[in-house]
Amino acid sequence: MQLNGFHDRVALVTGGARGIGRAIAERLRDLGARVAVGDLRAPQIDGVLGLELDVTSEPGVEAAFARVESELGPPSILVLNAGIFVIEPFEETTLESWRRTIDVNLTGAFLCARRALPAMREAGYGRIVAIGSSAGKTGGAKAVAAYGASKAGVMALAKAIASEYAPHGITSNALAPSLIDTDMISSMPDMADKVPVGRLGTVDDVADTVAFLCSAHAGYITGEVVDVNGGFLID
Ligand code: NDP
Repeated sequence: MQLNGFHDRVALVTGGARGIGRAIAERLRDLGARVAVGDLRAPQIDGVLGLELDVTSEPGVEAAFARVESELGPPSILVLNAGIFVIEPFEETTLESWRRTIDVNLTGAFLCARRALPAMREAGYGRIVAIGSSAGKTGGAKAVAAYGASKAGVMALAKAIASEYAPHGITSNALAPSLIDTDMISSMPDMADKVPVGRLGTVDDVADTVAFLCSAHAGYITGEVVDVNGGFLID
């Protein structure tokens, strides 16, 4: 199926310098959207506006959105992808480390969504996709309590936005991927054997799903958490 609904749309992808976010940004660009990507270091991606953005900084979020608005227009597609993954036993998790994970993975998504929604509401159209995780359902593999809690939070955030903004033409969904082959899981070797489909996920598996949810074809899907996990967690 040729996905439609990207012409004249502006998209912002957070944490898109590499990995899943980069693949999403390239896919949205190839589908015809005008795409900006924010990351800690401004990404350089062909045909994409690269911005320096720390999603945990309220003024930083404001500055990045202001630049997207002046160079491309207000985003009607927002992909909340920036995230960090810290493996540490629960009793060794310091308050600082806990807060950092919650700040990046959850509060960063809140700040970006809150900044994006007024223009979407005014336009009567918007697509938000938050990248959660199967860890947000299960608590994750051992020793990722902060990560699991942050991902449960961001998936609930996507649902909360969905119910509040559905009357305004805005859909809000989350993904619950697991074991996608990026730098993030390089510390966990030999995981492919644990996936029923017999391989790790690819960044394109995730980008395909995000593209569909951001397309014109997904206007009746909101408040959903979509598993992208090769059968790793069937619930
Ligand atoms: P990567 O670590 O490859 O990419 C994450 C990106 O987020 C990096 O470019 C990183 O920048 C950026 N980032 C980190 N902190 C911030 C911040 N404060 N502000 C802006 N950008 C930031 O991870 P993936 O591509 O694998 O993951 C992308 C998303 O998918 C994450 O939310 C992750 O939790 C989620 N996910 C991934 C899974 C997997 O198996 N890979 C499974 C389930 C969910 P820098 O490089 O400078 O640190």
